[in-house]
Amino acid sequence: MIGRRAALRAGLALAAGLVLAGGVRVLTAPAPDVSETFYVFGTLLEVETHGVPAAQARDAMAVLGAHFRQMHRDWHAWAPGELESLNAAMAAGQSFEVAPGLAKLLQQGRDLACRSEGLFDPAVGGMVEAWGFHADTPPEGDPPSDAVVAKLLAGAPKMTDLTIEGTTVRSSNPAVQLDLGAYAKGAALDLAEADLTAAGIRDAVLNAGGGVQVLGDHGSRPWRVAIRDPFEWGVVGAVSLRPGEALHTSGNYERYFDKGGIRFSHIIDPRTARPMRGVVSVSVLSDNGALSDAAATALCVAGEEDWPRIAAQMGVSAVLRITDDGSIFATPEMRARLEAVEGGFPAPITVVDLPKDVAIPLCPEG
Ligand code: ADP
Ligand code: MG
Repeated sequence: MIGRRAALRAGLALAAGLVLAGGVRVLTAPAPDVSETFYVFGTLLEVETHGVPAAQARDAMAVLGAHFRQMHRDWHAWAPGELESLNAAMAAGQSFEVAPGLAKLLQQGRDLACRSEGLFDPAVGGMVEAWGFHADTPPEGDPPSDAVVAKLLAGAPKMTDLTIEGTTVRSSNPAVQLDLGAYAKGAALDLAEADLTAAGIRDAVLNAGGGVQVLGDHGSRPWRVAIRDPFEWGVVGAVSLRPGEALHTSGNYERYFDKGGIRFSHIIDPRTARPMRGVVSVSVLSDNGALSDAAATALCVAGEEDWPRIAAQMGVSAVLRITDDGSIFATPEMRARLEAVEGGFPAPITVVDLPKDVAIPLCPEG
């Protein structure tokens, strides 16, 4: 059941006259020197640069644009491209040569999957597809039958089924179908940050539906981003992002379908092959986009008991988690970073400590 009021469209806030995205709003933004919007992985990705001549910024944007177009094509889970070819090869039991960028991304995904105990696992593309989320529009029709779900579960696809030797990738399990949607956006922002830095840009904000990443603090006025309370037209609080930080939010507030009074999220619990339940949104702040993005997804899947341990294992310490009974939980670090916002609807926040000295589950060699 959705508690308090019906969850609104976006989990994070939008505001007038500011950088907008599905998830967040940048509260203090001076006029950008140059701003440009790209379309990547089904979302608009907005980049603003500050403090460099417009011509320099525009050159950098052209590099970014080419890079984003390439990622969109190569990492797409259900359109022709490198990933689709890799998936077809794995399903046929063959090995496949990928570009160095994809090999690196898969290594990172494999490592994060192990640290999350498989709650984040990009090998579950077959499950995501069966639930109707391999499309640009929300699913229509009936959810998969119990028999189909049981078959998906029996396939047990896992990132640890992959062997990545240099740029040669193969899977020991034909059920593995890669879908990088849970961390590709964060990884794209990491690469964009590297591109911008290489172009001599020190001050920029990148904003992509549910994810924001910043370079610099534009003259000691840090980028301030609001986290929306999905149950109200308000915000839980704002976070001032430090140079290099990334804030990502995942949840069932944006991509889902409702059937028989149940909201099916596009985030699948690999342990059940069914959409996760009980969580409206999770926001994660860290200094790495791919990590924040992957952890936000994993911590949506993790239950109330497990999420603090999973967060610690993944190496994130600033987490905000909103459950569908309207409860808000934050780690001490996230609580300390949350600033009150005028006009917000302050709701009680329960502070949850993360366990110390957790053993990090590492992947087997491969
Ligand atoms: P958003 O795309 O809204 O930012 P997420 O970062 O949470 O949301 O990514 C969700 C996407 O990740 C799904 O659309 C699907 O493609 C993929 N996915 C779903 N469940 C999982 C999972 N348990 N592990 C890894 N990827 C997943
Ligand atoms: Mg994610």
